[in-house]
Amino acid sequence: MGLLALGTALDWPEAKTKAHHVRAWGIKQLLEIWNKAKVKERDAMLWGDEVEYLVVTYSKDDPEVLLSLRQADILAALAEDKSLSKETGAPASPGGTKPLKNDPPPVFHPEFGRFMLEATPGKPWGIEFKELLNVEADMKLRRTIAKAHMLPNEFPITLTTFPRLGSPGVFTEPSYPVSGSKLRSQFVPDEIANPHIRFPTLAANIRSRRGRKVQVNVPVYRDEATPWPWKDPTVNYDLHQWPEDDDVRNGAAPDNFIHMDAMAFGMGSCCLQITFQAKNIIEGRQMYDQLSPLGPILLALTAATPVYKGFLADTDVRWNQISKAVDDRTPEELGEKPLQNDRWRIPKSRYASNSTYISQDPRLRPEYLDPNLVIDNDIKQQLLDGGMDDRLATHFAHLFIRDPIVIFNEDLQELDLTKTDHFENIQSTNWQHMRFKPPPADNSIGWRVEFRPMEIQITDFENAAFAVFMVLITRVILSYNLNFYIPITRVDENMETAHRRDAVLSEKFYFRRNLFSAKSSRGGSGSSTPRNSSRPPTPVGPVEDEYRLMTINEIINGSAYAGTDSSEAEGDDFPGLIPLVESYLDSVNVDVTTRCQLATYLDLIRKRASGELWTAAKWIRHFVQTHPDYHKDSVVSEAVTKDLVGKVIEIGEREVKGEGFKGLGAEVERLLGGFK
Ligand code: ADP
Ligand code: MG
Ligand code: MG
Ligand code: MG
Repeated sequence: MGLLALGTALDWPEAKTKAHHVRAWGIKQLLEIWNKAKVKERDAMLWGDEVEYLVVTYSKDDPEVLLSLRQADILAALAEDKSLSKETGAPASPGGTKPLKNDPPPVFHPEFGRFMLEATPGKPWGIEFKELLNVEADMKLRRTIAKAHMLPNEFPITLTTFPRLGSPGVFTEPSYPVSGSKLRSQFVPDEIANPHIRFPTLAANIRSRRGRKVQVNVPVYRDEATPWPWKDPTVNYDLHQWPEDDDVRNGAAPDNFIHMDAMAFGMGSCCLQITFQAKNIIEGRQMYDQLSPLGPILLALTAATPVYKGFLADTDVRWNQISKAVDDRTPEELGEKPLQNDRWRIPKSRYASNSTYISQDPRLRPEYLDPNLVIDNDIKQQLLDGGMDDRLATHFAHLFIRDPIVIFNEDLQELDLTKTDHFENIQSTNWQHMRFKPPPADNSIGWRVEFRPMEIQITDFENAAFAVFMVLITRVILSYNLNFYIPITRVDENMETAHRRDAVLSEKFYFRRNLFSAKSSRGGSGSSTPRNSSRPPTPVGPVEDEYRLMTINEIINGSAYAGTDSSEAEGDDFPGLIPLVESYLDSVNVDVTTRCQLATYLDLIRKRASGELWTAAKWIRHFVQTHPDYHKDSVVSEAVTKDLVGKVIEIGEREVKGEGFKGLGAEVERLLGGFK
């Protein structure tokens, strides 16, 4: 998250009148940096991860576990700690994690929820394989440092969502009455959000632009004793304080859905993101395209979100809930009313899977693109006139169909081309599952690509495993020049599929059959290539023949491992991403220790894909459904929540101390296996 400028944030009716202004200046800033940076070459292959935490208050003797709203105090305590300043280097960790050489200490960031925290490494990781082994220790160090700057009863935990956020009764510390002019929520107070003016304005202006509150409806899980049809018992139909209180009377809360009505229900979720720096813009655009089809697969594989507002949901991941929680589309844009004041019907929320490919790779067939992509033609023309190529101009002209939501009056006095603030205003509120990050205005770092769909995992071992897997698969893609292209609308469909309960085991996803192709997009860059890449290229036939439905087990582990090698036509075996990573590691020089540690990470991914280990979503579901205080009615009570969070804290403490997970129950072993 960028620096948070202070100023006068405009309310929506006024911000709307300046939207065009911000877009026009944003495009000028984009062209400025593009012209400066398009020829950048030989940037280092750096990468970095982002881990988000919920902060809870918990003690064995308290009946309740609560969300702590002390984000600002915790960040202040971290900022005041001299041992954490860049100059002194990383501290000797209080919790037994090893200090990392003389690396700068981790960086902590605010997030939307006042109960959240984000942490990144002190500097991005380099190209060395050995650095992959530092990630887990660094993540543990971050958690230990965060904990050391909290109250004794506060804990940073990595559940994606707090199970009882927005449930009746007390769920925050301190507690506030549920009534606020910004969110106008029935369920959460305005104080749930980071008080910096940017965040309440973001929430209020999204609501205002929509003309009603956001509608975050998640199908409830139907258990044996769940009344059916199910009516969300926490919805109050009798409120008359705000005009938006009519929403529920107008059908915002349909039967059989858990109903939520505020940005906090989505943006209050935690995720794991990875940013890669490419050597140049061409490689960056290639990485963006090739990682896109992997998004839904990694979303399903990291599933960790089965509970909302005190109820078991029938979905396993957070993605669509965030999408709905920041959906600012008007009834006209949604297609509910004929277009009169708005310019387009827009099929997706501004938080959604990405809608186009951006590379000039000759393997990108026009059929992979969405013919119905909505773009702003004037913006595209300006970019073309500024010298940008059609495909990249299309990408940005798509992002720029959105209005800027938060506008500071002070920023509109003068156009500053040494900044990218207006560009970033639009760019950073297009929350797609991949983000193409141009260099900053000073051109000091390279073109970057961010992989955003993964759910945060309970342990740092798992978070490190997924981060390392993404780094390795990215290296494999570049080294072998792999081709993952499928039509972008199939990626959308896969994203929906990833939401289904236990999608990782029970669903199939569209995936490309042959990842190898002779036609190189990189003009013989001399990278190492395995023998099997000299397979004949995919003949140019119907696009539909290039992909088929596969289980995640087959995608990750390969047809042979998944036992599907005989079920498909001869020669249609899929090699599997893990075997590809392994053959890559065989072809490069990795020392034995590093290789062994990497193998434990790959083993976790392999076992999650095969079902030998459970996803966090499955583990949480099982925990709830076998708890003595669960009555088969989909209700996740305070007692269950407390024990769940207690278990998560216990797992975390064991992990930081380097102790195993033995004695925490067979279920924890189903989640984490025999690792450690
Ligand atoms: P945002 O929230 O906008 O995605 P953050 O600063 O929170 O950005 O996180 C960006 C991630 O990118 C961090 O893990 C950071 O270490 C990493 N990073 C920073 N500079 C580079 C770079 N030049 N190349 C690759 N990754 C980088
Ligand atoms: Mg960040
Ligand atoms: Mg974040
Ligand atoms: Mg990020």
